Amino acid sequence: MKYCQGPKCHQYRTKDRVRGPKGAKYYQTRRRNYFGYLGGNACSMICQDDWFRKFGDQAVNHFGRIVEPKRTDCDKAWYKQHHWRHSRDGGSGYYFVNDLLGQRIAITETHYNDDNIKQPIDRYPIDTQEINLKN
Ligand SMILES: [Zn+2]
Repeated sequence: MKYCQGPKCHQYRTKDRVRGPKGAKYYQTRRRNYFGYLGGNACSMICQDDWFRKFGDQAVNHFGRIVEPKRTDCDKAWYKQHHWRHSRDGGSGYYFVNDLLGQRIAITETHYNDDNIKQPIDRYPIDTQEINLKN
């Protein structure tokens, strides 16, 4: 069991937070085996937002503020795409697409659904001649 990390959880007036004997009742932070917010640490979206409002800036600084842009290079820019209507020429409706390289490669539905296959190079050797021509 753990307590909700929302800094104001105990201030919300719900029946499940009430504790104490008659005449000395109080609201208490929620305690559960499992929470569905803030990575399993907050009881509600409200408590998650409270936490982030109070600690988010500190957390970002603590774990590493991004101070220069990150980048995704073209060899990592592949994504899968499914066209519901197959093309008239009988081509597959499933593709690997790379907008940075300007390429689209037809794949099978099986490979489309395989989450282990993230880019064509995993199982589909790209026609290097084609790449060289485009570059
Ligand atoms: Zn809470």
